[in-house]
Amino acid sequence: MNINIQNLVRENIKTMQPYSSARDEFKDFEQKMIYLDANENPNDNGINRYPDTQQKSVKKILSGIKKVATSQILLGNGSDEVLDLLFRAFCEPNKDNVITLPPTYGMYDVLANLNAVENKEILLNDDFEPNVSKILSEVNENTKIIFLCSPNNPTGNSFSDESIVTLLESFNGLVFLDEAYIDFSSRESWLSKMNDYPNLVISQTLSKAYGMAGIRLGILYASIEIIEVLNKIKPPYNVNILTQYKAIQNLENTKKINKQIIDIQLEKKFLFKCLLKLNFIVKVYPSEANFILIKVDNANKRYQQLLEKGIVIRNRTSQPLCDNCLRITIGTSEENLKLINTLKEL
Ligand SMILES: *Cc1c(COP(=O)(O)O)cnc(C)c1O
Repeated sequence: MNINIQNLVRENIKTMQPYSSARDEFKDFEQKMIYLDANENPNDNGINRYPDTQQKSVKKILSGIKKVATSQILLGNGSDEVLDLLFRAFCEPNKDNVITLPPTYGMYDVLANLNAVENKEILLNDDFEPNVSKILSEVNENTKIIFLCSPNNPTGNSFSDESIVTLLESFNGLVFLDEAYIDFSSRESWLSKMNDYPNLVISQTLSKAYGMAGIRLGILYASIEIIEVLNKIKPPYNVNILTQYKAIQNLENTKKINKQIIDIQLEKKFLFKCLLKLNFIVKVYPSEANFILIKVDNANKRYQQLLEKGIVIRNRTSQPLCDNCLRITIGTSEENLKLINTLKEL
């Protein structure tokens, strides 16, 4: 497919001049220089300087782990920020639209509303797969982005390769693939195929498998052309020094992270089996993520009962296709045991 990214970019973004920060104008980080350019306090306390606007050290490590060029990575203050940048770069308020597939992650709809962009919601099928023909029939000339979340939150399943390929090949806009839970999945990430599809934009995060929800670091991977557009509009210092420092420190310990992922997967298997045995649980959905979706006899009642015992889970019963469904995050082995024992007593 021949897709012209520039044609998708909003007019005002095409013509605007980005903010040029002091540190952008002089970029030589290698040499020891005297910095009298940014009105910082010169006394070194580790945080007196502005952060690297391009987070080069973090990207270098991610590039090594994920096998993606640093020029194809954009970092933000959580996935929320990179998602918002995508809306602002490509969706003209009060004119363009996007497509999302409920039940899914709530932020897509929030950000569409915030940016005054119509959100066309096309429900997943009963098996939680995208309804590809319906999606394509809803596309019009103002449809800029289709949001896919795989593994999907809250359903826990991954979408079939066939559905994703068909959308990538048939849609003349951006296909956003949210891989927040990919490290828990048996499927391979789509990162390795990114350069085959110029309209594929992938996001990942340090908030889930990597255990760094507190530092807020979201990652977007795309073609150099798309990354350049987003770089032009991002706030210059959007990832602070403390976040960059902690990300580097923890990403270097891949052994520990991989061990934790394996532990969480084992715990998930254990929980899955235990949940199947409880009589008020109607269904336990298979999960490629670090949570399990269950259907119970009465979600509001069971949710409340757990709360009273000091256990907080997520009640998803008001979501489409999630009647009486609860979403349970995999905890530590002690937490999971406590959960199971509590559920048995209900
Ligand atoms: C948790 C989650 C994220 C992560 O968001 P951050 O802002 O990076 O913490 C992104 N997408 C989905 C679907 C999620 O469930």
